[in-house]
Order: sequence, then structure tokens, then C-alpha cells
Amino acid sequence: MTPKELNDRVRAAKEEVERRGETFYPGPSRIHLASFPPKERWDDWVELDSRAWPERVERRYSLVPTTCFNCESACGLLAYVDQETLQVRKFEGNPEHPGSRGRNCAKGPATVTQLTDPDRILVPLKRAGARGEGKWIAVGWDEALDEIAGRIRRAIQEDRHNEVMYHVGRPGEDGFTERILAAWGVDGHNSHTNVCSSNGRAGYQFWMGYDRPSPDFANAKVMVLVSAHLETGHYFNPHAQRVIEAKKNGARLIVFDTRLSNTATHADHWLASYPGSEAAVLLAVANYLIQHDRYNREFVRQWWNWREYLVCERDDLEPSFDNFERVLKELYRDYTFEFAAAESGLDASVIEDVAQVVATAGTRLATHNWRSAAAGNEGGWQVSRTLFLLNALLGAVASEGGTFPNAWNKFVPKPIHTPPHPKTWNELTWPLEYPLAMNELSFLLPHFLKEGRGRVDVYFTRVYNPVWTNPDGFSWIEVLSNPDLIGLHVALTPTWNETAYFADYVLPMGHSSERHDTHSYETHDAQWIGFRQPVLRALRERMGQRVADTREVNPGEVWEENEFWIDLTWRIDPDGTLGIRQYVASQQRPGEKLTVDEYYAYAFEHSVPGLPERAAAEGLSPLDYMRRYGAFEVGRRVGPVYTTDVSRDDLQDIREDQFGRVYTRAPKPPSPNVVPHPTPEPDAEGRRPVGVRVDGKILRGWPTPSGRLEFYSRTLAEWGWPEAALPTYLKSHIHPDHLAADQMPLISTFRLPVHIHTRSANAKWLDEIAHTNPLWIHASDASRLELSTGDLVRVETEIGYFVVKAWVTEGIRPGVVACSHHMGRWKLGETGQRQLMATANLDHRGASWGLTRRGGVEPFASSDPDTMRIWWTDVGIHQNLTFSVHPDPVSGQHCWHQAVRIRKADPGDVYGDIAVDTDLARDVYRRWLEKARPADTHSPEGTRRPFWLLRPLKPPKQHFRLPEPRQPVAAGTGSD
Ligand code: SF4
Repeated sequence: MTPKELNDRVRAAKEEVERRGETFYPGPSRIHLASFPPKERWDDWVELDSRAWPERVERRYSLVPTTCFNCESACGLLAYVDQETLQVRKFEGNPEHPGSRGRNCAKGPATVTQLTDPDRILVPLKRAGARGEGKWIAVGWDEALDEIAGRIRRAIQEDRHNEVMYHVGRPGEDGFTERILAAWGVDGHNSHTNVCSSNGRAGYQFWMGYDRPSPDFANAKVMVLVSAHLETGHYFNPHAQRVIEAKKNGARLIVFDTRLSNTATHADHWLASYPGSEAAVLLAVANYLIQHDRYNREFVRQWWNWREYLVCERDDLEPSFDNFERVLKELYRDYTFEFAAAESGLDASVIEDVAQVVATAGTRLATHNWRSAAAGNEGGWQVSRTLFLLNALLGAVASEGGTFPNAWNKFVPKPIHTPPHPKTWNELTWPLEYPLAMNELSFLLPHFLKEGRGRVDVYFTRVYNPVWTNPDGFSWIEVLSNPDLIGLHVALTPTWNETAYFADYVLPMGHSSERHDTHSYETHDAQWIGFRQPVLRALRERMGQRVADTREVNPGEVWEENEFWIDLTWRIDPDGTLGIRQYVASQQRPGEKLTVDEYYAYAFEHSVPGLPERAAAEGLSPLDYMRRYGAFEVGRRVGPVYTTDVSRDDLQDIREDQFGRVYTRAPKPPSPNVVPHPTPEPDAEGRRPVGVRVDGKILRGWPTPSGRLEFYSRTLAEWGWPEAALPTYLKSHIHPDHLAADQMPLISTFRLPVHIHTRSANAKWLDEIAHTNPLWIHASDASRLELSTGDLVRVETEIGYFVVKAWVTEGIRPGVVACSHHMGRWKLGETGQRQLMATANLDHRGASWGLTRRGGVEPFASSDPDTMRIWWTDVGIHQNLTFSVHPDPVSGQHCWHQAVRIRKADPGDVYGDIAVDTDLARDVYRRWLEKARPADTHSPEGTRRPFWLLRPLKPPKQHFRLPEPRQPVAAGTGSD
């Protein structure tokens, strides 16, 4: 069906609905789909039972909203709770959700299969044998909580705060757990971000202070995606529907992807560039705009920090805009289409076509890069920096159809308690070598521990599976197996995973309909909050019953994390003497624990503009409103916040620096929206930056040191990276110059649209759709290597190899191979997910590790008859085990692309075989460590890190000071 035919059909349907005297769906989705149950009927919704067909059997449902937890998009779900059984029968989209507007990807409805998975963890488990031995006993929550709390309490009392660490994969919430860690006073937050999006973030952070883009796709004229964003990107379902809307309205879509992804198939211009060359192509486009004067001169003059650049780097010139424009032309003139073509392998004429399309966008250029090319390459942060350069040149920044910073399209309500940030600095997560890292150097933890940089006494992994997800998984197994390095490992997880096998406690946590969280994401130019809630609890409360603890309604002893953290914190400081308990105490009932109802009621009543009024109009409290509808739109069309005039009368004692940055002593006005912001430095006399002078007015500007968009990053220049201070092209570690003649780049980062990193092995619908990850290889390469589809291939990395099946295709650039994420799950014995985990043997002799298959998956009898219908045996291969760590020396991101050798498998090779040498992994780690430019030799101000950069937990400024000089850690010391 063509878009026009679809539009005609929708129009006809609308007319038909209106002819009947009804209206299209009136909720925030503003989209009519006949299948959306009107919210007035959510208490009693009747559907025919599809399984009873051809009989017409009616089923009555109560519909309860929650928020999907199967990726970071936080789409709305509606749980259909069977009124007879009080069980969730299915999930569909929530039309009241402003971001997802009633739509979901396959993973949203598949949540129901996660709830009913016969292999899910239902009770707290304690290790009964050696770590990894697979022996467990069920224990009560009290026993687990008391041991964990006692150990944390001792660490805090003995001033071993840095031995408590929480390592999170999918946060799925907005700051709750960070505040718990702050309450404990530990700098123990460790995220997955450096194996995910740090390079993407860094490019944005150095431009605008904010670390994420928020493209207004729906209103764009031209869209540029450096990713397979339509099917698997960040916020991809909410974004994808708006990208398609824009396309229907005539917008052009440009997609960079080395593979013919589903996204590439929707592109008007598909650029299958050599991986790592994306910035070269983007700079050629930028150069076209610059040399042809097709950029927005007024925007550049007002909002770029060009004057600072000229003063700092070109003191031979008067700092005038005319001079800057001349310099700009000089700076970029060598980024010709021919240069970009040579780097990328694209035709120069194709790049020129794209440049001409971009030039027509005006301020309606919506661009996006998050993981993809940024995450794959050393220097990949320049991909997002050069992509945003196009927006900055056109003035397509926070404009209708342009790209916003995330913080303006996101709303995080102020919580009931805000503990201060910890007064300590954890060098296991924020080492001196990476002063500009966007997040914790999480994936280097095994090497840091083995080098003797510290130990961890209590280590939480939470919805995180580093053994499987991270590079160098065998080094993780080595440290997780060593109680001298990790004293107590607590895995908080709804499902079994490879890391949990090496835990001391495995604690069952709820899926998306079994827990509370709030969410807000930058899906479009608006602000909204979504509420995740345990739907059976909400329903029982709707029915007038009281539920004091979410375990009362969850299966088995599955808990939610909010209540878990509150309880654990209370036990750490039962009498309040450590000053911790106050942050989980009730305000309404002094001396008692905070409840989730009080926590969320406070936030919704006190900190969400418009919600109390909206709720009151329906006779509801704000909490009840959120329990009933699951989402609330705080505002729409937020617009160019940076142009807000802040020259208020009460600005006291202002001072302005030579570049127009304005400082004041006036106190900061309170804001209910507590989205984390960078904190530009105060001036020497303690005034805070309030704005920037633009053509005589003081405007809010950007939270960068200069207050402007930083074309020139003085931070990068002063912290040891002057050659990378402008948007530029850095050759990747897999650039052809760095490869041997027989090596090829392997793209290992692309995701399958229907899987979730490590949590979907228990989702039978998803497993049935996707359960393998063959090696994409171009027909010309396959011919050279004498390979056919299905042949076994050995893929050799720096530290080992894996054996995989070939998939010969024209859908990838010649000379590049690719293997998807998500697959190759394994278990060591019977414990684990039997629907998508192979049973494997781990072989271990010194530093030499191997993983071999004992069996794939097969049908099995269980509480779910569908498990007898499992027809697939393949589960793919676990390639990440064979990757060594590649920390980007600036952002800290693990640079995922691999230089590999491909050959036919040896006669004895078996599908799924893995072999790795962790001594080699350590050598590669040290080689990459040498690329770093540490704070103790490059800090311009004697600090560990620029104070203004974001940090999830941010110790007070005095803790940023570099420690006294000390003996460097000698290579080779420690336990390996
Ligand atoms: S995009 Fe899919 S997995 Fe992600 S939140 Fe939405 S429905 Fe869930």
C-alpha cells in the first residue's frame, strides 16, 4: 500500500468514525486505531477469546498501564488482566503515552512470555558450592538482606566506602538507585555506558554540554541517521514512527550503515561506508556547506564560540567574525568529496548528492547517532561531533524539525529525599588515565582488580551481564571467581544470565509489570513522564484492597527494586546513627520506612507541573492518575530554551568575561525538573554562570564553559587533546592503515530488532523469531575464501577465535564482515534459560580458556505447553568473549569493531567453539592504556577531571583534586 493509499484509508476511516458520531482517539496519541480501548472502559473491557474460535467466548479484562522494560524507550504498555483469574493475559500499547502513542515493537507484547517463562527465578538463591559450580539453595529475603546489609555497614564504618559497587546494565529508571548510593555515601555507581554510548555522548557533550540528541523527526525536512535506528536504536519505536511520519510528508532520509539494515532499506540515500569513515563523509558534507556559504551565518555568529577559538588558537588574527569565516573555510577545505570517497569507499558523486540534500534542510535537519559508528571506533566520538556540526552550521538546533539536547525534552520529578553526593572518589571506576571519560571505565574493572588497584567487598550486578555482554568475558570470570577480589557478588536479575552463575546471591527482580519506576525520554519536542507499576498491585488497589509489599502480588518471591533498596538501606542503618536511614524514612510516619506510595505521591504532587490539576479534574490524586493512565505529558513544543532571556532584575552583581559568559551571585531558581545537568565552573569569586551575552541581551545559552555551542572545545585542548578540539576526523583502530593485509573489520555491534541484550532468552515468541547470528560476508569475499552459506568459519581476533556459520550476502560492504549482538547464550548445567541457552563446557588451563557446546536447545516439558513445541536448536555464538578491551583514550568507550582474520574452520572445529588467552587480553589492555593522557600529567588545574563534565554521582569539588603523587602501579603486579 502506498502512503497515499494508506492516508486515504485512514481519512475514510476517520470519516466513518465521525459519521457514527464518534471521535478519533482523544488521548495524547491523537491517533485513531479502532483497537485502542477507550480509557473510559479500562475498568471493564470485553474481548472475544481468540483461542475459543469459532465459539464466541467473551473475556472481561481490567486494563492497567505500565511501562515496558525491554529497552530504554520506555514505551507505554497496557496490561490486560483477566477478571476471572487476576492474571495478565497480554500486553498491548498504551494510547495515553505521549512517546509511544499506543505502539510497541515486538518486545513490548512479548513481556507476557517473560512473566510466564517456566525457567524464571522465583526465589532468592544463595550459592551452595564454589562460584560457578551451579549449586544453589533457596533462602529467605531476610537472610539475604541481613548479610548484604551487614557487610555494607561494616565497609562504611571501616571507611572502605570504595569497596561497595553497584554495576547497572539497563537502568530503566531515573535516578532512584543513584540516590540510594548517595545515601550510603559511596561513589559506587558503575554503569554499562562505556560499552554502549560514551562515544556517542562525548561528541554531543563537547558541543553543547548535554550528552544526548533529541531529533524532532516528525517535523524534519531532512533526516540523517548514523545507525540502524528505525529498528534498533535508542528510543527507536517512538523515533521510528516519527521518522516514517516525516517521510510521508516528503522528508528525505539519509542512512549510514555498512549493512543493508531494515533502516537502510527505508533510506532515500543509503551510505554503506567503510566502518570508521563516517566522520570523513560528514566533514565533506560540512565542507560543502561552508565553502558554498550555505550555512546559517547568523546562527554561527551568535552561538558558536568562534571568538574563544580565535583568541586561544589564532592570536595572529583580530577576533572578528569575518576572520573566523575565512579560517573556517581554511580549516575544512581539505575535506573534499574525493577525500571522503577515498576514506569511505563511496562514490564522490553520492556524497555530493547527499551534501546538496542536507543543504536544503534549513533549520529542519534532524540527525541522530548513538551507538553504531560511534561505539565501534576509536575516535568514534567525532562521528557525533561531526554529525552535530551539520546541525550547528544550519542552525537546526532546538528548532522545529531540528535536533534538541535531551535535557529539554525530558522531565525528571524532584524526589522526596535528595541525599548529598558522596565525599569520596572511586578510582576503580574513575581512574586517572581517563579524565574526560563520559562514564565509569566499567569494562576495565577485571584488569584494575588484577593489577591490585583495589578490591570490591560488595558487588551488585543489576540487570547486567558483563561476562556475556562485555568484551573479554573470561577475564571477568577470573575476577568473579576470586573472593579476594570480589568479596560478595549479588546478582539482581529477573532471569538467569552468565554472570549470575558466578554470584553468591541471585535475587529475583520483577519485569515491567512487577515493579515501580518513573521514566522520561527525549522522544520528540515535548516533556513527559511514564510510570512503571506492578499492575496486579495497582489493580487490587483499584478494587479497594491494600497492598503493602509488592511481593504480595508478584509471582513466587519476586520483588521490585524500589522496595528492595529501601529495605536494604534501612537495615544498613537500623538505628539511624550512620545518617543513612533518614533518606529512606517516611515523612508522614516518623520513625517508619518510606513506602513506594509515599515516594511517588510526593513526586507527582510536588514536582510535576500540571499533573495535580489534571488529576483533580478527574477527581483523582496525582498518584491515582498515574496509576490509572501510566503517563503524563508535562509540556509540548519546548522550543529553543537556549534563547530564553535571563536578564532579570534580580541578577545581582553580575560579571561578564571576555567572551560574554555572564556570572551572577543571584541564587539559582528552584526547578521541579531535576534532569542531570553539567555544572559549568563558577568564576573566581564564586558567582555562578547564568547565561551568555548575545547582541546585548543575556540569554540562557548552553551549559558549556563558554555558554555557547563549543565548536572549539577548550576542555579538550587544555586536557591534552588539542588536535581533537575541533570537529575533525580521527582514524579508527580498524582504519585500513592499521590492518594487516589479511585482516578485515568485523562489525559486532548491530542488534536484532526482537531481542534485548541479555534478558530475552526467556521470551519464547522472540526466541522463535530470532535465534542465530551467522557471519555476514559479501559474496565477493566468500568467493575469495571459498565459502558458502552455512560453512563453518573461524574468526580470529587479537586474543582468540570463535567458530560461526557463514551467511553469504550482497547486503554488506565488500571487505567487511558482521555478526549480530544478542546471541550465543550459554549455561553450564541445567540451571538457566532452556529456550535460548546452549549447554556448554568451560575449559580452563592457566590463562587459556575455551568454551565448547554440549548441546543446543530442544523441546522440554514444563508448565508451558509451548516449550514442547520448540523447533529450533541453534542459539548462535558468543563472539564478545573473544574481544579484548579497547578503551577510547578520550571518552573511555570500548571501541567494539575488531580487526579479524577469516578462514575456513579447521576439521576439528565445532560450531560455537570459543578459545581465548587472557594473558593476551591483558597485553592488549596495556597497549590501549598507553594511549591515554592521564589527569596527573595533563590536567591544567590539578584536578582529576574537568568539574563541569557530567558524572552520575558527583563528589564535592575538593574531591576532584588530584591525590598526592604516589608510586605508579607497576605493570604485572597483582594477582594475575
Ligand atoms: S521499543 Fe519495544 S522494547 Fe523498547 S520500550 Fe518500546 S515496546 Fe518496549
